[in-house]
Amino acid sequence: MTRRKALKLTSLTTAACAIALKPNPAIAQAAAASPSGPFKVPPLPYSYDALEPHIDAKTMEIHHDKHHAAYVTNLNKAIADAPDLANKPIETILKDLNSVPEKVRTAVRNQGGGHYNHTLFWQMMKKDGGEPSGDLAKALDKSFGSFSGFKEKLTEAATKVFGSGWAWLVLDGSDLKIQSTPNQDSPISQGTKPLLGLDVWEHAYYLKYQNRRPDYIKAWFNVINWDFVADRYRNH
Ligand code: MN
Repeated sequence: MTRRKALKLTSLTTAACAIALKPNPAIAQAAAASPSGPFKVPPLPYSYDALEPHIDAKTMEIHHDKHHAAYVTNLNKAIADAPDLANKPIETILKDLNSVPEKVRTAVRNQGGGHYNHTLFWQMMKKDGGEPSGDLAKALDKSFGSFSGFKEKLTEAATKVFGSGWAWLVLDGSDLKIQSTPNQDSPISQGTKPLLGLDVWEHAYYLKYQNRRPDYIKAWFNVINWDFVADRYRNH
């Protein structure tokens, strides 16, 4: 490289840096429009395409990066009006919604429930899910007759959710039960412990399955992270 070329390159690089360092008013404005706060979107524990072909990469990307992110943004906005909640884990807040100030209670229930439910949901799935084993498998047999009996009951609950909501395998005391919740209501607000949850909002399946919710439910059974579910069962 000639000295002349080297000098030209240096000045170009410097110019590029100067441009990059100049504050960008558009970016500053965007940051102000979505205030940061105590709650964050946890990263997906696998790549967007890990659950293919059962759940497609585009759905995972939009579901996690847009839908979950929106619950967190709106939860942080609501919490800005109730700063006492900022230091509490979302689980603690949802377990006692009655103590949430009334002016933000509905927002916390919906947005906080969305944040908590989705944080669990990502961990409840993995590539090549398989079937449960050990104590959890025994408990499922005992409560539902067999593993296929359990699948039937959860499928029925998920199919019957009218509009948007979730179907769950929960612990009620030490009993395994199937439960469904509307919207983003979480079982922990009703005193049960969610072990496994199936999101049947259309945003969870519409790109690939359109109106065919039963096909999505059937496919989802292939990507359940039974180790995670068993851990939650063991630690009850
Ligand atoms: Mn969802």
